[in-house]
Amino acid sequence: PVKVPRPIEKGITFEGISFSYPGSSSVTLNDISVKIKPGQVIALVGGNGSGKTTLIKLLCRLYDPQKGRIAIDGVDLKDMRVSDLRREISVVFQDYAQYNLSLAENIWLGSAAGPLDMGKVAKAARDSGVDRILKRLETGYETTLGKWFDKGTDLSIGEWQKVALARAFIRDSQIIIMDEPTSSLDPKAEAEVFAKFRELAKGKTAIVIGHRLSTVRMADCIYLLNDGHIAEKGTHEELMALKGEYAQLFEIQAVNYR
Ligand code: ADP
Repeated sequence: PVKVPRPIEKGITFEGISFSYPGSSSVTLNDISVKIKPGQVIALVGGNGSGKTTLIKLLCRLYDPQKGRIAIDGVDLKDMRVSDLRREISVVFQDYAQYNLSLAENIWLGSAAGPLDMGKVAKAARDSGVDRILKRLETGYETTLGKWFDKGTDLSIGEWQKVALARAFIRDSQIIIMDEPTSSLDPKAEAEVFAKFRELAKGKTAIVIGHRLSTVRMADCIYLLNDGHIAEKGTHEELMALKGEYAQLFEIQAVNYR
């Protein structure tokens, strides 16, 4: 097997991907081509069942496409060891928090490493802004580790999302995927979490499955999926000018940005 390039220089390409789930007669993805350069954030948008998550599953090689290929710097994913590939991919699971675990354990879960390394947990927490949560809880985490092992039961959704960021970024992976929650955050918290995401994703290759305009409009390129194919592609401004499905989807939200 070929190693995943480090650093990734040219990017990730989905080239004419078509895919049906095993045993299913319907075509889930139809002739999809997507390019993501290192340092870019792309957004996948589209209605429920349009194929966004399936595309991510193919990138993680839970399945292989029947047609086309996915490559990193020109190397087919199939020529890489799956474990190597997955080590390079971090996913921010936003709707996912283990309330029965402590904050430190929640963050360390993302590391795929051995026993809890508090030095690394503390760094990930600082980078993602979780340390401010801990300060608010008056933890004094630098001198005592006590609160780290408390459960974050009184954290808000926005604060849990920062924990999710810390969990994803604790690993030094080159590819980062964020599945934006559909549940609503207040706009200020949402903007803060996404700004943090962009900052942490610098130099990485990032894919956001987006539902809200505040996130999507910042992407370098937006792909609108409809029934398994790419219906529209471009920047926020380009897609708004197109007055197609994207403009319709985000029209109401867009009023706030005029
Ligand atoms: P999205 O993330 O855009 O909501 P998905 O990629 O999850 O869409 O789903 C795309 C389509 O694939 C849907 O029609 C869905 O029902 C179908 N699908 C998803 N997972 C499976 C599966 N494991 N087996 C068969 N069909 C699936």
